[in-house]
Amino acid sequence: MTKPELMFHLQHTPLKKLQQMADKVRQNWVGNKVYLRAIIEFSNYCCRSCLYCGLRKENKRLKRYRLAPDSIIQLAQNIISKYGIKTIVLQSGDDFAYDTETISFIIQKIKQKADVAITLSLGERDFTEFEAWRRAGADRYLMKHETANPHLYARLHPGKTLNQRLKALKQLQALGYEVGLGCMVGLPGQTLDDLAEDILLIRDFPADMAGIGPFIPQEETPLSQHPAGDLSLTLKVIALTRITSQNVHLPVTTALVTLDQNGGLEALLAGANVIMPDFTPLTYSQQYKIYNNKAKITLEFAQDLTRQAGRKLSKEKGGSLKCTTLPKD
Ligand code: SAM
Repeated sequence: MTKPELMFHLQHTPLKKLQQMADKVRQNWVGNKVYLRAIIEFSNYCCRSCLYCGLRKENKRLKRYRLAPDSIIQLAQNIISKYGIKTIVLQSGDDFAYDTETISFIIQKIKQKADVAITLSLGERDFTEFEAWRRAGADRYLMKHETANPHLYARLHPGKTLNQRLKALKQLQALGYEVGLGCMVGLPGQTLDDLAEDILLIRDFPADMAGIGPFIPQEETPLSQHPAGDLSLTLKVIALTRITSQNVHLPVTTALVTLDQNGGLEALLAGANVIMPDFTPLTYSQQYKIYNNKAKITLEFAQDLTRQAGRKLSKEKGGSLKCTTLPKD
């Protein structure tokens, strides 16, 4: 699809029609499985100042926490042995207190005991760190590009550029990571042109996975008064991403579930094929306040949602499908 076609669909094509098209592509290219990824949000410290995010360093009202490396390892091992989930996602703010060696140690310890995939989501770090973590056994890296509009990106991320973000993402890809991009829908000043660019960037990168969710205001940020992104528009972006990127992994984002109680199911019907239950201990996950009233996706919720969508939950690693060059059927 061309950019004008994408913009036309975003504006004029009814959501239901895009969902039907996306669902067909999803069925042909990724099948009926919904892959589980267990996420641990192990630190809410952050050295960045992203205008939309409650973890930004200027937010002095946020109670900060860090999980000790041993606790992270223990938590991951429990998830693996108790629930059999074979992908562990380790996410945090951009927190340099966890240095190269510490993260390498955590990866090695988790992988020593079990055949699982590890996804890191730690923000922008040096090439040497990406390299060390890959060598330690990390398989995937999730770092959303947030918006493909370089001007909007620069406005939202003081002192940072989209080019830097994309360069880091390309480094990760070159190191053999499966790479996750993604964007927010409803950012201030964002246009349909920008969203079409997001969809094309995910296709052309090419991303192995893409997290797409609405912007949701957070009370302690400069964007606290900006309205949340639109549910239908977010679902259209997900559907068009499935249609254009075919075999990319698309999670049901927590932001979508936070925005609307039907957001999760509607995302599965729009081409999503991944759910990421949150295994962060409750006392800490309540402090991971990236936006207001953040929902907690549990394993039970994931099971319910998958059943409602008539699909099958999978605990397999569920690696990238990008090597698949033809539809499954
Ligand atoms: N530090 C890592 C990074 O930058 O990739 C990962 C943590 S960051 C908090 C995870 C994601 O939260 C971001 O990629 C962003 O899209 C999302 N996020 C933060 N604030 C948000 C908001 N107000 N609304 C929706 N999503 C938000």
